[in-house]
Amino acid sequence: MRKKILAGNWKMHKTIAESVALAQDIVTALKAKPSASEVIVCPTYVALDRVATVLAGSPVLLGAQDMHWESQGAYTGKISADMLKAIGVTYVILGHSEQRAYFHETDETVNKKTIKALAEGLKPIVCVGETLAEREAEITEKVVETQIRGAYAGISASDAVKTVIAYEPVWAIGTGRNASPQQAQDVHRFIRTLMASLYGDSVANAVQIQYGGSMKPENAAELLSQADVDGGLIGGAALKADAFLGIIASS
Ligand code: PEP
Repeated sequence: MRKKILAGNWKMHKTIAESVALAQDIVTALKAKPSASEVIVCPTYVALDRVATVLAGSPVLLGAQDMHWESQGAYTGKISADMLKAIGVTYVILGHSEQRAYFHETDETVNKKTIKALAEGLKPIVCVGETLAEREAEITEKVVETQIRGAYAGISASDAVKTVIAYEPVWAIGTGRNASPQQAQDVHRFIRTLMASLYGDSVANAVQIQYGGSMKPENAAELLSQADVDGGLIGGAALKADAFLGIIASS
């Protein structure tokens, strides 16, 4: 039985003070009414340290939105795995479609980051998903397979099982148009079968696969009830405590 895992990706939203307030609201609510699901918040880098203080002693875990694959050096603007760990980060989102679309992320860089995160004891949330044109061209599975094979190149089964995969159809991210529960389930099933062919059944059955793309309280229960949907990576709806908590309550 896989535990559900819900992560809020706050993207480039919220000042430090706003981040602290949102984290406090989530922690207060979950302390009063604990969830059986794993809950993660991923603020901006600048808010990580202060949010870590708010989360301390609570069931909510801290995630980062990206990291560099090198340990240190002349990489202006970048953050290392070590730096994240020192703050208390547990999870790191890698290969988000916005990173791929705007910041030159490739399957190769996702692979380097995934290897580094695992080596440093961070849990990667590896994002994959097709664009609308790719779905319409009926190459969703091919695209997702290429992304997964690329991200996991050289990664052992004992490491692969420590990762989380986020299936995020690009056409559903921030658009208000979510994948239907059946569309999500079909791709999640495909990903699990692919993981079985790469790593065997026990890894495939254990690995958590999140759905991301316009998940909200109104559609979460049905998406999360699909057999291979193990949680959500949530953008817009994670920016308001009520909406994020509503999704958590549906899990
Ligand atoms: C995301 O950015 O990972 C995401 C799923 O965003 P949204 O929920 O806003 O579609």
